[in-house]
Amino acid sequence: MTDSASSQHGDVVVLTAAHDLRAQVRSWQTAGNTVALVPTMGALHAGHLALIAEAQRRCTTVVVSIFVNPLQFDRDSDFAAYPRPIDDDIAACAAAGVAAVYAPTASSMYPPGFDTTVMPGTLAERWEGEFRPGHFAGMATVVTKLLAAARADTAVFGAKDAQQAAIIQRLNTDLDLGTEIVVAPTVREPDGLAMSSRNEHLNAAERHAAVVIHAALTRLVHQVNHNTPHAAALDEARAMIDAEPLARIDYVAIVDAATFTAIEADQPLGERALAIAAVWIGGTRLIDNLPFAR
Ligand code: AMP
Repeated sequence: MTDSASSQHGDVVVLTAAHDLRAQVRSWQTAGNTVALVPTMGALHAGHLALIAEAQRRCTTVVVSIFVNPLQFDRDSDFAAYPRPIDDDIAACAAAGVAAVYAPTASSMYPPGFDTTVMPGTLAERWEGEFRPGHFAGMATVVTKLLAAARADTAVFGAKDAQQAAIIQRLNTDLDLGTEIVVAPTVREPDGLAMSSRNEHLNAAERHAAVVIHAALTRLVHQVNHNTPHAAALDEARAMIDAEPLARIDYVAIVDAATFTAIEADQPLGERALAIAAVWIGGTRLIDNLPFAR
C-alpha cells in the first residue's frame, strides 16, 4: 500500500495516511456522526474488542488504529517478536462493526526528518517509566500523533495499562487536544490473567504460572481492605510471586491512580488507590493492576 492508499475490506475502510484518516473522520462528523478512536498495536483480543464495544456505546462510528510503534519498545527483541496478524485484525474489526482501520507504516508515521518527541513529566518517572526507559515518551508521541490526526470526538483506552492511561489523560489536557478520553475496565481470562497480546508468547507452563500476578494483586487488595498494614500485605504479595519459580518481579506497589506516586505505609489509601505489578514470566514481561475501591 502507498502512503495515501485506502482500500475496502468488507465494510471496513483501511487507511494508511494521516491525511486520509483526518478527511474520513471529518466527513463522518460533517454528516452528523460522532467518531471514537481505539488505538491499538494489533493482535486483537477480547480486551481490545471490549474497548471497541465501549467506543460504539459512546459514538456512532468507530476507528481502530493498528500500529506497532517502534518508538515505545525498550528492547529490540520485544519489538521483533511482537505479533502482527494484520489480516486477522482487519477481519475482527469488520466482524465487530468497526468503520475504519488506520494502519500506517512506520515510515509514514516517522518519515525522514521526523524530529519531535512528546515528553511526559513526573507521571512517567516511576514504575513502567523506570523499568522501560523511553517507553512513555515513545507512547506519548504516537498517541499525540494519533489523536491529532484523527481529531475524533472520543478515544478509548484500557485500564490494564493504568499508568499509560493517566499519562494520556494528562497530555490530552496539557496539549489541548480536545478529544474526550475514556478508560475502559480490564478484560481477563477466566482464571484472572489480564488479556494481553504478549500472552501469546507464554508456553503452557508459563501460562499456568502467569495466574500468580492477578492472584497476588487480589490477595493484596483483600488484605489491605481488611486492615492488614500495607507493608505486610505487600511483603506477602511479593512472597507469593517469588514462590513461583517462573516469575520474577520488577515491582509490586500501591499507588495513587491519578499521580502514580506510591502510597506509603502510614498514608490512608484514598479512593484512587491502585495495586500495580510488573512481573516477568519466563522471557515475557506482563503488567496488571487492581483498584482497592469496592
Ligand atoms: P495494546 O494493543 O496492547 O497496545 O493495547 C491497546 C489498548 O487496549 C490499550 O488502551 C490497552 O490498555 C488496551 N488493552 C490491552 N489489554 C487489555 C485488556 N485485557 N482489557 C482492556 N483493555 C486492554
